[in-house]
Amino acid sequence: AAEAETRQFETEVSQLLQLMIHSLYSNREIFLRELISNGADACDKLRFEATANPDAIPQPAELHIDVDVDKDARTVTVHDNGIGMSRDEVIRQIGTIAHSGTRAFLEKLTGDQQKDAQLIGQFGVGFYSSFIVADHVRVETRRAGTGVEAGTRWESKGDGEYTLSDCERAEPGTEITLTLKEDADEFLEPMRLRHVIGRYSDHVAFPIRMRKQDDEGNPTDEWETVNRASALWTRPKSEISDEEYREFYKHIAHDFEDPVAWTHNHVEGRQEYTTLFYIPGRAPFDLWDRDARHGVKLYVKRVFIMDDAEKLLPNYLRFVRGVVDSSDLPLNVSREILQDNRLVDSIRSGSVKKILGLLENIAKNEPEKYAGIWDNFGRVLKEGPGEDFANQQQIAGLLRFASTYNDDDTQNVSFADYKARMKEGQDAIYVISADNAAAARNSPHLEVFRKHGIEVLLLSDRVDEWLLSNLREFDGTPIKNVAKGDLDLDNIIGEQDSDDADNTEDRKDDELGDLPERIQSALGDRVDSVRPSKRLVDSPACIVLGEHEMALYLQELLKQAGQ
Ligand code: ADP
Ligand code: MG
Repeated sequence: AAEAETRQFETEVSQLLQLMIHSLYSNREIFLRELISNGADACDKLRFEATANPDAIPQPAELHIDVDVDKDARTVTVHDNGIGMSRDEVIRQIGTIAHSGTRAFLEKLTGDQQKDAQLIGQFGVGFYSSFIVADHVRVETRRAGTGVEAGTRWESKGDGEYTLSDCERAEPGTEITLTLKEDADEFLEPMRLRHVIGRYSDHVAFPIRMRKQDDEGNPTDEWETVNRASALWTRPKSEISDEEYREFYKHIAHDFEDPVAWTHNHVEGRQEYTTLFYIPGRAPFDLWDRDARHGVKLYVKRVFIMDDAEKLLPNYLRFVRGVVDSSDLPLNVSREILQDNRLVDSIRSGSVKKILGLLENIAKNEPEKYAGIWDNFGRVLKEGPGEDFANQQQIAGLLRFASTYNDDDTQNVSFADYKARMKEGQDAIYVISADNAAAARNSPHLEVFRKHGIEVLLLSDRVDEWLLSNLREFDGTPIKNVAKGDLDLDNIIGEQDSDDADNTEDRKDDELGDLPERIQSALGDRVDSVRPSKRLVDSPACIVLGEHEMALYLQELLKQAGQ
Protein backbone atom coordinates (compact mmCIF):
# COMPACT_ATOMS: atom_id res chain seq x y z
CA ALA A 1 0.00 0.00 0.00
CA ALA A 2 1.14 3.54 -0.72
CA GLU A 3 2.60 5.53 2.17
CA ALA A 4 1.03 8.65 3.54
CA GLU A 5 2.15 11.57 1.43
CA THR A 6 1.84 15.30 1.65
CA ARG A 7 1.08 17.27 -1.48
CA GLN A 8 0.67 20.92 -2.33
CA PHE A 9 -2.52 22.32 -3.71
CA GLU A 10 -2.27 23.82 -7.13
CA THR A 11 -1.53 27.51 -6.66
CA GLU A 12 -4.91 28.40 -8.08
CA VAL A 13 -6.63 26.30 -5.46
CA SER A 14 -4.92 28.07 -2.56
CA GLN A 15 -5.71 31.42 -4.05
CA LEU A 16 -9.32 30.49 -4.60
CA LEU A 17 -9.66 29.05 -1.13
CA GLN A 18 -8.50 32.21 0.60
CA LEU A 19 -10.73 34.36 -1.48
CA MET A 20 -13.72 32.13 -0.97
CA ILE A 21 -13.38 31.92 2.76
CA HIS A 22 -13.51 35.69 2.98
CA SER A 23 -16.18 36.33 0.41
CA LEU A 24 -18.70 33.69 1.28
CA TYR A 25 -18.42 34.21 4.99
CA SER A 26 -21.83 35.81 5.40
CA ASN A 27 -23.47 32.96 3.52
CA ARG A 28 -21.48 30.13 4.94
CA GLU A 29 -24.30 27.66 5.56
CA ILE A 30 -24.10 26.81 1.86
CA PHE A 31 -21.20 24.46 2.61
CA LEU A 32 -23.81 21.89 3.56
CA ARG A 33 -25.70 22.33 0.33
CA GLU A 34 -22.48 21.76 -1.62
CA LEU A 35 -21.51 18.61 0.25
CA ILE A 36 -25.00 17.16 -0.03
CA SER A 37 -25.10 18.07 -3.70
CA ASN A 38 -21.87 16.12 -4.25
CA GLY A 39 -23.27 13.20 -2.27
CA ALA A 40 -26.38 13.17 -4.45
CA ASP A 41 -24.25 13.26 -7.62
CA ALA A 42 -22.26 10.32 -6.24
CA CYS A 43 -25.48 8.35 -5.56
CA ASP A 44 -26.70 9.09 -9.09
CA LYS A 45 -23.46 7.80 -10.52
CA LEU A 46 -23.48 4.65 -8.45
CA ARG A 47 -27.03 3.81 -9.44
CA PHE A 48 -26.09 4.29 -13.06
CA GLU A 49 -22.96 2.17 -12.90
CA ALA A 50 -24.71 -0.58 -10.96
CA THR A 51 -27.30 -0.72 -13.73
CA ALA A 52 -24.81 -0.60 -16.57
CA ASN A 53 -22.35 -3.01 -15.01
CA PRO A 54 -24.14 -5.13 -12.38
CA ASP A 55 -21.41 -7.78 -12.11
CA ALA A 56 -18.71 -5.33 -11.06
CA ILE A 57 -20.88 -3.02 -9.01
CA PRO A 58 -23.69 -4.35 -6.87
CA GLN A 59 -26.70 -2.14 -6.28
CA PRO A 60 -26.68 -1.02 -2.61
CA ALA A 61 -29.83 -1.59 -0.59
CA GLU A 62 -30.67 2.08 -0.34
CA LEU A 63 -28.74 5.11 -1.43
CA HIS A 64 -28.71 7.89 1.10
CA ILE A 65 -26.80 10.82 2.50
CA ASP A 66 -26.33 11.00 6.26
CA VAL A 67 -25.57 14.17 8.16
CA ASP A 68 -24.31 13.81 11.70
CA VAL A 69 -22.74 15.94 14.42
CA ASP A 70 -20.40 15.17 17.28
CA LYS A 71 -20.57 18.06 19.70
CA ASP A 72 -17.59 16.91 21.78
CA ALA A 73 -15.32 16.49 18.79
CA ARG A 74 -16.83 19.64 17.20
CA THR A 75 -17.42 17.83 13.91
CA VAL A 76 -20.09 17.72 11.24
CA THR A 77 -20.03 14.64 9.03
CA VAL A 78 -21.65 14.17 5.62
CA HIS A 79 -21.64 10.58 4.50
CA ASP A 80 -22.95 9.07 1.28
CA ASN A 81 -22.95 5.49 0.02
CA GLY A 82 -22.55 6.58 -3.59
CA ILE A 83 -19.82 5.90 -6.11
CA GLY A 84 -16.85 7.00 -3.98
CA MET A 85 -13.40 7.87 -5.32
CA SER A 86 -10.19 6.00 -6.00
CA ARG A 87 -6.89 7.52 -4.80
CA ASP A 88 -6.26 8.88 -8.30
CA GLU A 89 -9.70 10.38 -8.46
CA VAL A 90 -9.20 12.09 -5.13
CA ILE A 91 -5.98 13.64 -6.40
CA ARG A 92 -7.51 14.71 -9.66
CA GLN A 93 -10.85 15.93 -8.39
CA ILE A 94 -10.12 17.31 -4.96
CA GLY A 95 -6.56 18.65 -5.27
CA THR A 96 -7.30 20.58 -8.45
CA ILE A 97 -10.11 22.61 -9.81
CA ALA A 98 -11.67 20.86 -12.73
CA HIS A 99 -13.57 23.78 -14.17
CA SER A 100 -11.87 24.86 -17.35
CA GLY A 101 -12.75 28.47 -16.65
CA THR A 102 -10.73 28.66 -13.44
CA ARG A 103 -7.73 30.40 -14.88
CA ALA A 104 -9.86 32.86 -16.79
CA PHE A 105 -11.73 33.44 -13.58
CA LEU A 106 -8.64 34.15 -11.56
CA GLU A 107 -7.44 36.59 -14.18
CA LYS A 108 -10.55 38.62 -13.62
CA LEU A 109 -9.82 39.10 -9.96
CA THR A 110 -9.01 42.67 -9.08
CA GLY A 111 -7.74 42.47 -5.52
CA ASP A 112 -10.68 44.64 -4.52
CA GLN A 113 -12.44 42.58 -1.84
CA GLN A 114 -15.92 43.69 -2.68
CA LYS A 115 -15.71 43.19 -6.41
CA ASP A 116 -13.97 39.87 -6.01
CA ALA A 117 -16.61 38.72 -3.58
CA GLN A 118 -19.21 39.23 -6.27
CA LEU A 119 -17.14 37.29 -8.73
CA ILE A 120 -16.64 34.35 -6.47
CA GLY A 121 -20.36 34.23 -5.93
CA GLN A 122 -20.59 33.46 -9.61
CA PHE A 123 -18.13 30.67 -9.48
CA GLY A 124 -19.08 27.23 -8.30
CA VAL A 125 -16.70 26.43 -5.46
CA GLY A 126 -18.31 23.16 -4.39
CA PHE A 127 -16.26 21.00 -2.10
CA TYR A 128 -13.92 23.78 -1.07
CA SER A 129 -16.72 25.65 0.61
CA SER A 130 -16.10 23.26 3.53
CA PHE A 131 -13.21 25.50 4.53
CA ILE A 132 -15.52 28.41 5.17
CA VAL A 133 -16.67 26.74 8.37
CA ALA A 134 -13.95 24.17 9.03
CA ASP A 135 -10.30 24.49 9.89
CA HIS A 136 -9.71 20.82 9.20
CA VAL A 137 -11.42 18.59 6.62
CA ARG A 138 -11.06 14.85 6.35
CA VAL A 139 -12.37 12.84 3.40
CA GLU A 140 -12.50 9.07 3.61
CA THR A 141 -13.67 7.38 0.48
CA ARG A 142 -13.72 4.10 -1.37
CA ARG A 143 -14.65 3.57 -5.00
CA ALA A 144 -17.54 1.14 -5.55
CA GLY A 145 -16.25 -2.07 -7.09
CA THR A 146 -13.01 -2.12 -5.05
CA GLY A 147 -12.11 -3.96 -1.83
CA VAL A 148 -12.36 -2.93 1.82
CA GLU A 149 -8.69 -1.97 2.07
CA ALA A 150 -8.82 0.23 -1.03
CA GLY A 151 -10.00 3.30 0.86
CA THR A 152 -8.27 6.66 0.65
CA ARG A 153 -8.03 9.32 3.33
CA TRP A 154 -7.50 12.96 2.35
CA GLU A 155 -6.87 15.58 5.00
CA SER A 156 -6.21 19.29 4.87
CA LYS A 157 -6.34 22.44 6.91
CA GLY A 158 -6.98 24.43 3.79
CA ASP A 159 -3.57 26.04 4.12
CA GLY A 160 -2.01 25.05 0.81
CA GLU A 161 -1.27 21.37 1.36
CA TYR A 162 -3.07 18.10 1.98
CA THR A 163 -2.08 14.61 3.01
CA LEU A 164 -3.16 11.36 1.45
CA SER A 165 -3.08 7.95 3.09
CA ASP A 166 -4.69 4.55 2.74
CA CYS A 167 -7.53 3.47 4.98
CA GLU A 168 -10.10 0.72 5.27
CA ARG A 169 -13.71 1.42 4.52
CA ALA A 170 -16.33 -1.22 5.19
CA GLU A 171 -18.66 0.22 2.55
CA PRO A 172 -18.08 2.09 -0.69
CA GLY A 173 -18.92 5.77 -0.63
CA THR A 174 -17.56 8.96 0.84
CA GLU A 175 -17.48 10.38 4.34
CA ILE A 176 -16.49 13.98 4.83
CA THR A 177 -15.74 15.19 8.34
CA LEU A 178 -15.44 18.88 9.07
CA THR A 179 -13.84 20.05 12.28
CA LEU A 180 -15.58 23.34 12.81
CA LYS A 181 -13.88 26.65 13.40
CA GLU A 182 -14.36 28.28 16.79
CA ASP A 183 -16.97 30.67 15.45
CA ALA A 184 -19.02 28.07 13.57
CA ASP A 185 -20.68 26.50 16.63
CA GLU A 186 -24.13 27.07 15.23
CA PHE A 187 -23.62 24.09 12.91
CA LEU A 188 -23.25 21.73 15.85
CA GLU A 189 -26.98 22.21 16.47
CA PRO A 190 -28.99 19.49 14.67
CA MET A 191 -31.95 21.88 14.42
CA ARG A 192 -29.83 24.39 12.57
CA LEU A 193 -28.63 21.72 10.14
CA ARG A 194 -32.16 20.48 9.53
CA HIS A 195 -33.19 23.97 8.76
CA VAL A 196 -30.36 24.43 6.26
CA ILE A 197 -31.19 21.10 4.60
CA GLY A 198 -34.85 22.04 4.36
CA ARG A 199 -33.94 25.31 2.78
CA TYR A 200 -31.40 24.20 0.19
CA SER A 201 -31.61 20.46 -0.26
CA ASP A 202 -35.23 19.45 0.10
CA HIS A 203 -35.38 18.63 -3.62
CA VAL A 204 -32.51 16.12 -3.46
CA ALA A 205 -33.86 12.87 -4.86
CA PHE A 206 -32.17 10.68 -2.23
CA PRO A 207 -33.03 10.52 1.46
CA ILE A 208 -30.96 12.87 3.57
CA ARG A 209 -30.96 11.39 7.04
CA MET A 210 -30.16 12.65 10.51
CA ARG A 211 -30.27 10.96 13.88
CA LYS A 212 -33.54 10.93 15.76
CA GLN A 213 -33.34 12.64 19.11
CA ASP A 214 -34.73 11.37 22.40
CA ASP A 215 -36.95 13.44 24.67
CA GLU A 216 -33.97 15.22 26.18
CA GLY A 217 -32.69 16.13 22.76
CA ASN A 218 -29.86 13.61 22.79
CA PRO A 219 -29.00 11.74 19.59
CA THR A 220 -30.18 8.12 19.29
CA ASP A 221 -29.06 5.31 16.98
CA GLU A 222 -32.16 5.65 14.85
CA TRP A 223 -32.11 7.69 11.65
CA GLU A 224 -34.89 9.65 10.01
CA THR A 225 -35.23 11.24 6.60
CA VAL A 226 -35.31 15.02 6.81
CA ASN A 227 -35.98 15.96 3.18
CA ARG A 228 -38.76 15.15 0.79
CA ALA A 229 -36.46 12.85 -1.19
CA SER A 230 -38.36 12.77 -4.46
CA ALA A 231 -36.97 14.01 -7.75
CA LEU A 232 -38.24 17.55 -8.11
CA TRP A 233 -39.08 17.32 -11.81
CA THR A 234 -41.44 14.41 -11.22
CA ARG A 235 -43.70 16.50 -9.01
CA PRO A 236 -46.64 18.49 -10.34
CA LYS A 237 -45.71 22.06 -11.20
CA SER A 238 -48.38 23.49 -8.95
CA GLU A 239 -46.70 21.94 -5.92
CA ILE A 240 -43.25 23.34 -6.53
CA SER A 241 -42.36 26.75 -5.17
CA ASP A 242 -40.09 29.18 -7.00
CA GLU A 243 -37.61 28.81 -4.18
CA GLU A 244 -37.48 25.04 -4.77
CA TYR A 245 -37.00 25.53 -8.49
CA ARG A 246 -34.13 27.89 -7.79
CA GLU A 247 -32.37 25.58 -5.36
CA PHE A 248 -32.73 22.68 -7.75
CA TYR A 249 -31.11 24.79 -10.44
CA LYS A 250 -28.11 25.52 -8.24
CA HIS A 251 -27.69 21.82 -7.63
CA ILE A 252 -27.79 20.70 -11.25
CA ALA A 253 -26.02 23.72 -12.73
CA HIS A 254 -23.34 23.93 -10.03
CA ASP A 255 -24.13 27.62 -9.98
CA PHE A 256 -24.29 29.92 -6.97
CA GLU A 257 -26.65 32.39 -8.58
CA ASP A 258 -30.35 32.21 -9.28
CA PRO A 259 -31.60 31.30 -12.75
CA VAL A 260 -33.66 33.96 -14.53
CA ALA A 261 -36.35 31.67 -15.91
CA TRP A 262 -37.38 28.07 -16.31
CA THR A 263 -39.85 25.87 -18.14
CA HIS A 264 -41.05 22.56 -16.77
CA ASN A 265 -43.06 20.16 -18.89
CA HIS A 266 -44.50 16.68 -18.71
CA VAL A 267 -45.04 15.34 -22.21
CA GLU A 268 -47.32 12.41 -22.87
CA GLY A 269 -48.47 10.79 -26.08
CA ARG A 270 -46.35 8.76 -28.41
CA GLN A 271 -43.47 9.27 -26.03
CA GLU A 272 -43.43 10.10 -22.39
CA TYR A 273 -40.83 12.41 -20.96
CA THR A 274 -40.32 15.30 -18.60
CA THR A 275 -38.12 18.30 -19.19
CA LEU A 276 -37.07 21.07 -16.86
CA PHE A 277 -34.93 23.76 -18.47
CA TYR A 278 -33.38 26.84 -16.95
CA ILE A 279 -31.93 30.04 -18.35
CA PRO A 280 -28.96 30.92 -16.13
CA GLY A 281 -28.55 34.41 -14.72
CA ARG A 282 -25.07 34.78 -16.17
CA ALA A 283 -22.87 33.32 -18.85
CA PRO A 284 -20.77 30.36 -17.72
CA PHE A 285 -17.03 30.88 -18.00
CA ASP A 286 -16.64 28.32 -20.72
CA LEU A 287 -19.46 29.52 -22.98
CA TRP A 288 -16.96 30.10 -25.79
CA ASP A 289 -14.78 27.07 -25.25
CA ARG A 290 -14.94 24.69 -28.12
CA ASP A 291 -15.57 21.84 -25.69
CA ALA A 292 -17.69 23.74 -23.22
CA ARG A 293 -19.90 21.58 -21.07
CA HIS A 294 -23.47 21.37 -22.16
CA GLY A 295 -25.85 21.69 -19.34
CA VAL A 296 -28.43 18.98 -19.72
CA LYS A 297 -28.58 15.90 -17.54
CA LEU A 298 -30.28 12.85 -18.94
CA TYR A 299 -32.34 10.54 -16.74
CA VAL A 300 -34.27 7.46 -17.77
CA LYS A 301 -37.18 6.66 -15.46
CA ARG A 302 -35.54 8.83 -12.76
CA VAL A 303 -32.25 6.99 -13.03
CA PHE A 304 -29.39 9.31 -13.80
CA ILE A 305 -27.72 8.38 -17.10
CA MET A 306 -25.31 11.16 -17.97
CA ASP A 307 -24.28 14.75 -17.49
CA ASP A 308 -23.64 16.96 -20.39
CA ALA A 309 -25.86 15.13 -22.88
CA GLU A 310 -24.94 17.34 -25.81
CA LYS A 311 -27.31 15.63 -28.23
CA LEU A 312 -30.37 16.76 -26.33
CA LEU A 313 -30.10 20.39 -27.34
CA PRO A 314 -28.56 22.17 -30.31
CA ASN A 315 -25.33 24.10 -29.86
CA TYR A 316 -26.95 27.50 -29.96
CA LEU A 317 -28.84 26.60 -26.78
CA ARG A 318 -25.74 25.36 -24.97
CA PHE A 319 -26.23 27.90 -22.21
CA VAL A 320 -29.46 26.23 -21.11
CA ARG A 321 -29.25 24.00 -18.03
CA GLY A 322 -31.67 21.33 -17.00
CA VAL A 323 -32.95 17.80 -16.86
CA VAL A 324 -34.54 15.48 -19.38
CA ASP A 325 -36.17 12.35 -17.98
CA SER A 326 -37.40 9.85 -20.56
CA SER A 327 -39.67 6.91 -19.90
CA ASP A 328 -38.94 5.29 -23.25
CA LEU A 329 -35.17 5.27 -23.74
CA PRO A 330 -33.38 2.11 -22.61
CA LEU A 331 -31.54 2.28 -19.29
CA ASN A 332 -28.30 1.27 -20.92
CA VAL A 333 -28.41 4.14 -23.38
CA SER A 334 -24.96 5.39 -24.38
CA ARG A 335 -23.70 8.54 -26.06
CA GLU A 336 -23.40 6.55 -29.28
CA ILE A 337 -27.03 5.50 -29.12
CA LEU A 338 -28.06 9.10 -28.49
CA GLN A 339 -26.27 10.17 -31.68
CA ASP A 340 -28.83 8.71 -33.96
CA ASN A 341 -32.06 7.92 -32.23
CA ARG A 342 -35.59 8.86 -33.22
CA LEU A 343 -36.74 9.17 -29.64
CA VAL A 344 -33.90 11.56 -28.89
CA ASP A 345 -34.64 13.58 -32.02
CA SER A 346 -38.20 14.06 -30.99
CA ILE A 347 -37.29 14.96 -27.38
CA ARG A 348 -34.80 17.41 -28.80
CA SER A 349 -37.22 19.15 -31.11
CA GLY A 350 -39.86 19.28 -28.38
CA SER A 351 -37.28 20.75 -26.00
CA VAL A 352 -36.17 23.40 -28.49
CA LYS A 353 -39.78 24.48 -28.94
CA LYS A 354 -40.26 24.83 -25.19
CA ILE A 355 -37.11 26.89 -24.78
CA LEU A 356 -37.77 29.16 -27.75
CA GLY A 357 -41.31 29.58 -26.49
CA LEU A 358 -40.02 30.55 -23.06
CA LEU A 359 -37.65 33.10 -24.58
CA GLU A 360 -40.42 34.54 -26.75
CA ASN A 361 -42.62 34.89 -23.75
CA ILE A 362 -40.00 36.78 -21.78
CA ALA A 363 -39.12 38.96 -24.77
CA LYS A 364 -42.76 39.92 -25.10
CA ASN A 365 -43.79 40.31 -21.49
CA GLU A 366 -40.59 41.15 -19.64
CA PRO A 367 -38.40 43.07 -22.07
CA GLU A 368 -35.96 44.17 -19.37
CA LYS A 369 -35.37 40.63 -18.30
CA TYR A 370 -34.95 39.69 -21.92
CA ALA A 371 -32.35 42.42 -22.36
CA GLY A 372 -30.30 40.74 -19.62
CA ILE A 373 -30.63 37.34 -21.29
CA TRP A 374 -29.66 38.89 -24.61
CA ASP A 375 -26.59 40.46 -23.03
CA ASN A 376 -25.42 37.10 -21.75
CA PHE A 377 -26.43 34.77 -24.53
CA GLY A 378 -27.40 36.83 -27.58
CA ARG A 379 -24.23 36.04 -29.47
CA VAL A 380 -24.87 32.35 -28.92
CA LEU A 381 -28.46 32.59 -30.10
CA LYS A 382 -27.22 34.24 -33.29
CA GLU A 383 -25.67 30.91 -34.21
CA GLY A 384 -29.20 29.53 -34.31
CA PRO A 385 -30.45 30.49 -37.77
CA GLY A 386 -27.42 28.79 -39.32
CA GLU A 387 -27.74 25.68 -37.21
CA ASP A 388 -31.45 25.07 -36.96
CA PHE A 389 -33.24 25.67 -40.24
CA ALA A 390 -36.53 24.28 -39.00
CA ASN A 391 -36.78 27.03 -36.38
CA GLN A 392 -34.92 29.70 -38.29
CA GLN A 393 -37.69 32.26 -38.38
CA GLN A 394 -38.64 31.79 -34.76
CA ILE A 395 -35.03 32.27 -33.70
CA ALA A 396 -34.73 35.30 -36.00
CA GLY A 397 -37.65 36.81 -34.12
CA LEU A 398 -35.64 36.57 -30.90
CA LEU A 399 -32.61 38.40 -32.25
CA ARG A 400 -31.80 41.96 -31.18
CA PHE A 401 -29.55 44.47 -32.90
CA ALA A 402 -28.04 47.88 -32.54
CA SER A 403 -29.61 50.30 -34.97
CA THR A 404 -29.25 53.76 -36.47
CA TYR A 405 -32.67 54.35 -34.88
CA ASN A 406 -30.97 54.44 -31.46
CA ASP A 407 -28.32 56.82 -30.23
CA ASP A 408 -26.20 54.16 -28.56
CA ASP A 409 -25.04 50.68 -29.47
CA THR A 410 -27.39 48.73 -27.23
CA GLN A 411 -28.69 45.67 -29.06
CA ASN A 412 -32.40 46.04 -28.53
CA VAL A 413 -34.07 46.32 -31.94
CA SER A 414 -35.82 43.24 -33.32
CA PHE A 415 -36.57 42.57 -36.98
CA ALA A 416 -40.21 43.07 -36.13
CA ASP A 417 -39.50 46.51 -34.60
CA TYR A 418 -37.58 47.37 -37.73
CA LYS A 419 -40.34 46.25 -40.08
CA ALA A 420 -42.90 48.30 -38.21
CA ARG A 421 -40.80 51.40 -38.94
CA MET A 422 -40.04 50.71 -42.61
CA LYS A 423 -40.62 53.53 -45.09
CA GLU A 424 -43.30 53.40 -47.71
CA GLY A 425 -41.98 51.54 -50.68
CA GLN A 426 -39.16 50.00 -48.70
CA ASP A 427 -38.92 46.33 -49.48
CA ALA A 428 -35.83 45.19 -47.60
CA ILE A 429 -34.42 45.14 -44.09
CA TYR A 430 -31.14 47.03 -44.34
CA VAL A 431 -28.18 46.00 -42.24
CA ILE A 432 -24.51 46.78 -42.20
CA SER A 433 -21.80 44.58 -40.75
CA ALA A 434 -18.40 45.66 -39.52
CA ASP A 435 -15.85 44.42 -37.04
CA ASN A 436 -16.85 46.83 -34.31
CA ALA A 437 -19.80 48.96 -33.37
CA ALA A 438 -18.12 52.30 -34.15
CA ALA A 439 -17.03 51.16 -37.60
CA ALA A 440 -20.57 50.04 -38.37
CA ARG A 441 -22.13 53.27 -37.15
CA ASN A 442 -19.66 55.52 -38.99
CA SER A 443 -19.59 53.66 -42.26
CA PRO A 444 -19.94 55.90 -45.35
CA HIS A 445 -22.40 53.33 -46.66
CA LEU A 446 -24.93 54.73 -44.23
CA GLU A 447 -24.84 58.28 -45.56
CA VAL A 448 -27.69 58.00 -48.00
CA PHE A 449 -29.78 56.09 -45.46
CA ARG A 450 -29.23 58.77 -42.85
CA LYS A 451 -30.07 61.49 -45.26
CA HIS A 452 -33.38 59.87 -46.08
CA GLY A 453 -34.18 58.69 -42.60
CA ILE A 454 -34.03 55.00 -43.44
CA GLU A 455 -33.14 52.82 -40.50
CA VAL A 456 -30.19 50.42 -40.78
CA LEU A 457 -29.36 47.66 -38.31
CA LEU A 458 -25.75 47.76 -37.14
CA LEU A 459 -24.10 44.37 -36.87
CA SER A 460 -20.68 44.05 -35.36
CA ASP A 461 -20.43 40.74 -33.51
CA ARG A 462 -18.10 38.10 -34.89
CA VAL A 463 -21.01 35.77 -35.47
CA ASP A 464 -22.98 38.30 -37.52
CA GLU A 465 -21.39 37.44 -40.87
CA TRP A 466 -22.30 33.83 -40.30
CA LEU A 467 -25.78 34.89 -39.33
CA LEU A 468 -26.21 37.00 -42.46
CA SER A 469 -24.99 34.26 -44.73
CA ASN A 470 -27.65 31.95 -43.33
CA LEU A 471 -30.56 34.26 -42.74
CA ARG A 472 -31.76 35.82 -46.00
CA GLU A 473 -35.13 37.12 -44.94
CA PHE A 474 -37.36 37.77 -42.01
CA ASP A 475 -41.08 37.24 -42.26
CA GLY A 476 -40.98 37.49 -46.05
CA THR A 477 -38.80 40.61 -46.19
CA PRO A 478 -35.29 40.16 -47.60
CA ILE A 479 -32.37 41.18 -45.41
CA LYS A 480 -29.89 43.26 -47.35
CA ASN A 481 -26.35 44.24 -46.42
CA VAL A 482 -25.93 47.86 -47.56
CA ALA A 483 -22.23 47.30 -48.17
CA LYS A 484 -22.83 44.58 -50.71
CA GLY A 485 -24.13 44.36 -54.25
CA ASP A 486 -26.42 46.80 -56.00
CA LEU A 487 -28.48 49.09 -53.91
CA ASP A 488 -31.79 50.12 -55.39
CA LEU A 489 -33.38 52.81 -53.29
CA ASP A 490 -35.45 54.43 -56.03
CA ASN A 491 -38.68 53.11 -54.61
CA ILE A 492 -38.12 54.96 -51.39
CA ILE A 493 -36.00 57.94 -52.28
CA GLY A 494 -37.47 58.59 -55.69
CA GLU A 495 -40.87 59.44 -54.29
CA GLN A 496 -39.71 61.20 -51.18
CA ASP A 497 -37.08 63.42 -52.58
CA SER A 498 -38.50 65.04 -55.67
CA ASP A 499 -36.71 68.29 -54.88
CA ASP A 500 -33.51 66.34 -55.07
CA ALA A 501 -34.26 65.66 -58.71
CA ASP A 502 -31.07 67.37 -59.74
CA ASN A 503 -29.25 64.59 -58.13
CA THR A 504 -30.20 62.03 -60.73
CA GLU A 505 -27.72 59.50 -61.81
CA ASP A 506 -27.63 60.78 -65.41
CA ARG A 507 -26.76 64.25 -64.33
CA LYS A 508 -24.09 62.98 -62.01
CA ASP A 509 -22.70 60.79 -64.72
CA ASP A 510 -22.36 63.84 -66.97
CA GLU A 511 -20.60 65.80 -64.29
CA LEU A 512 -18.27 62.95 -63.57
CA GLY A 513 -17.16 62.71 -67.16
CA ASP A 514 -14.56 60.03 -67.60
CA LEU A 515 -13.51 60.10 -63.91
CA PRO A 516 -14.78 56.57 -63.19
CA GLU A 517 -12.81 55.16 -66.10
CA ARG A 518 -9.67 56.98 -65.02
CA ILE A 519 -9.96 55.69 -61.48
CA GLN A 520 -10.65 52.25 -62.85
CA SER A 521 -7.51 52.25 -64.95
CA ALA A 522 -5.45 53.56 -62.02
CA LEU A 523 -6.66 50.79 -59.74
CA GLY A 524 -6.41 48.12 -62.41
CA ASP A 525 -7.63 44.68 -61.41
CA ARG A 526 -7.68 45.52 -57.73
CA VAL A 527 -11.35 46.42 -58.25
CA ASP A 528 -14.08 44.86 -60.33
CA SER A 529 -15.54 48.15 -61.44
CA VAL A 530 -15.80 51.83 -60.54
CA ARG A 531 -19.28 53.28 -60.69
CA PRO A 532 -21.13 56.42 -59.70
CA SER A 533 -23.35 55.74 -56.75
CA LYS A 534 -26.19 57.26 -54.80
CA ARG A 535 -24.95 55.60 -51.65
CA LEU A 536 -22.84 58.59 -50.65
CA VAL A 537 -23.78 62.02 -49.42
CA ASP A 538 -20.61 63.47 -47.87
CA SER A 539 -17.87 60.96 -48.59
CA PRO A 540 -16.29 60.93 -52.06
CA ALA A 541 -15.99 57.16 -52.43
CA CYS A 542 -16.60 53.84 -50.74
CA ILE A 543 -15.85 50.18 -51.32
CA VAL A 544 -18.80 47.97 -52.21
CA LEU A 545 -18.61 44.21 -52.00
CA GLY A 546 -20.13 41.75 -54.39
CA GLU A 547 -23.40 40.25 -53.18
CA HIS A 548 -21.67 37.06 -52.05
CA GLU A 549 -18.28 38.34 -51.05
CA MET A 550 -16.88 37.96 -47.60
CA ALA A 551 -16.81 41.06 -45.42
CA LEU A 552 -13.59 43.04 -45.70
CA TYR A 553 -12.64 42.62 -42.09
CA LEU A 554 -13.09 38.85 -42.37
CA GLN A 555 -10.91 38.80 -45.46
CA GLU A 556 -8.36 40.75 -43.43
CA LEU A 557 -8.61 38.31 -40.53
CA LEU A 558 -8.08 35.32 -42.78
CA LYS A 559 -5.11 37.02 -44.38
CA GLN A 560 -3.57 37.63 -40.97
CA ALA A 561 -4.15 34.00 -40.12
CA GLY A 562 -2.17 33.11 -43.23
CA GLN A 563 -5.09 31.69 -45.18
P1 ADP B 1 -18.55 19.92 -8.83
O1 ADP B 1 -19.54 19.21 -7.97
O2 ADP B 1 -19.08 21.17 -9.43
O3 ADP B 1 -17.89 19.01 -9.84
P2 ADP B 1 -17.06 20.03 -6.39
O4 ADP B 1 -15.94 20.89 -5.91
O5 ADP B 1 -18.30 20.09 -5.58
O6 ADP B 1 -17.34 20.45 -7.89
O7 ADP B 1 -16.56 18.54 -6.48
C1 ADP B 1 -15.42 18.22 -7.22
C2 ADP B 1 -15.39 16.78 -7.64
O8 ADP B 1 -15.02 15.94 -6.55
C3 ADP B 1 -16.73 16.24 -8.10
O9 ADP B 1 -16.96 16.54 -9.47
C4 ADP B 1 -16.56 14.75 -7.86
O10 ADP B 1 -15.87 14.15 -8.94
C5 ADP B 1 -15.67 14.69 -6.64
N1 ADP B 1 -16.48 14.51 -5.43
C6 ADP B 1 -16.78 15.44 -4.51
N2 ADP B 1 -17.55 14.93 -3.53
C7 ADP B 1 -17.75 13.63 -3.83
C8 ADP B 1 -18.47 12.54 -3.23
N3 ADP B 1 -19.17 12.71 -2.10
N4 ADP B 1 -18.43 11.33 -3.84
C9 ADP B 1 -17.75 11.16 -4.99
N5 ADP B 1 -17.06 12.13 -5.61
C10 ADP B 1 -17.05 13.36 -5.05
MG1 MG C 1 -20.36 19.93 -6.27
